[in-house]
Amino acid sequence: MADRSLRGTGLGSKSFEDETGVEFAARQEVGYICSNKHEYSLTFAVEAEVPAVWECPRCGAESLRLDGTKAEAKDEKPARTHWDMLRERRSIPELEELLAERLDLLRSGELGPNYATVGGKTRKSA
Ligand SMILES: [Zn+2]
Repeated sequence: MADRSLRGTGLGSKSFEDETGVEFAARQEVGYICSNKHEYSLTFAVEAEVPAVWECPRCGAESLRLDGTKAEAKDEKPARTHWDMLRERRSIPELEELLAERLDLLRSGELGPNYATVGGKTRKSA
């Protein structure tokens, strides 16, 4: 079997390597266009994750896929600020009330630079 298949095969004309899986791996060609209208395409393995954005080889500008595939929406939450957290717990009228209360305390001298050392006084309202 092996003897017969080798016979008559010119050396160098044919590779005995099993080409399946290497030479003929499934490929896909993906078109991109940059912001300067340079169109080009890149070849990726089918199983490769094709990036939605690529750097233009001609001008370096950011390129988007011609098929319109957008970058996956990032599921990262927008950063919550202290203000956001505060607003989840307090309404603006509540905050204004608290501010007025603190300003009163500040003006009356109960709050201020010496507040921490004076201490002892309990807050009037909650
Ligand atoms: Zn370009």
